[in-house]
Amino acid sequence: MQFSQILGQQDTKQMLVNSVRQNHVAHAQLFLGKEGSANLALALAYATYINCENKQADDSCGTCSSCTKMNKLVHPDFNFVMPVTATKNITGKDVLSQNFLTQWREFVLASPYQGLNEWMQHIGAENKQGAISKEESRQLVKLVSLKAFEGDYKIVLIWLPELMHPFAANALLKLLEEPPAKTLFLLVSQQADKLLATITSRTQIVQVRSFTDEEVIAWLQQNYNTEATAAYQVAQLAEGNLNMAANLLSEVSSDYFGFFRDWLRNCYSYKFGELLDMSEDFQKLGRENQKNFLLYALNLFRKVMLYGVDASLITYLPADEMKFVQDFSRLLNADNGTRMAEELSQAHYHIERNANPKIVFVDSSIQIAHFLRGNY
Ligand SMILES: [Zn+2]
Repeated sequence: MQFSQILGQQDTKQMLVNSVRQNHVAHAQLFLGKEGSANLALALAYATYINCENKQADDSCGTCSSCTKMNKLVHPDFNFVMPVTATKNITGKDVLSQNFLTQWREFVLASPYQGLNEWMQHIGAENKQGAISKEESRQLVKLVSLKAFEGDYKIVLIWLPELMHPFAANALLKLLEEPPAKTLFLLVSQQADKLLATITSRTQIVQVRSFTDEEVIAWLQQNYNTEATAAYQVAQLAEGNLNMAANLLSEVSSDYFGFFRDWLRNCYSYKFGELLDMSEDFQKLGRENQKNFLLYALNLFRKVMLYGVDASLITYLPADEMKFVQDFSRLLNADNGTRMAEELSQAHYHIERNANPKIVFVDSSIQIAHFLRGNY
């Protein structure tokens, strides 16, 4: 992985590069970011940069013999510890990171933005929760006592250290207290509050922000050839999480924006015949899509409210949506706006609890029509 393959995050990349160039590489670093953020990708790019034999001003070269191995995750000085669990093929004492390496490489190389659920599915663990075991930490202690094979440093990347067994966490703490020479620990975590405070305090923290909507859109377009409207709809729901964005891609199948716009127009014009027809279409979306649509609607609706408060708060919207937000904001005030937002989240709540979608839709339509006309 190279820094150039990761969208945005310029400041963090620069800070990491500078630490290497100025010889200030901390022996333990904690890449902290939510699921679907660039925390793992940045740690990988950083490790690649550290080991690169031909470092460029702001990135690894990508072609030296170290980079070639790092990019395939087969460099002998680059080690991984991640949560694992017993599977059909690996059981008992064999349940150790090192026995899942082939799968780990496939998984990370497919996308470094995937989450724990995807990892568990990838190794065939069904509904089990992975962990970093006691025995794993014994292996780790052995591993770091060995010298680096090729590079200057031995690098140990621990993915989701929050899933360490307490014994393992204490073993890691010992290692951080008396760091073995020329060994770097890169902890890639989603939940620092679940780590021992004594561990976090011994690491240098690299805060990794979630992706922006624009970055999510760009990523979907680059990697999945998603067309603009669909990418935008997914970005509205993904909350900066590229893993969620990839998963939503297969679920989000309709033109949410067009449907929402027509819905509100029909509500405003009291066109109840059309609304009944729309309730049939809503029913056909299926439960997941109905929920996604309502979340999308709620998000866009919040933008309308924000626009009414201060237009400059809306930083990015495709042209159609922007026009809609501008027009629609004229019909809203703090009072009917709040009521409508409540109505939409109520509808979502009912759909989630298996209410009849047609009834929910018609019911919400009537409420929204009254709110829009100030008739309540
Ligand atoms: Zn290189």
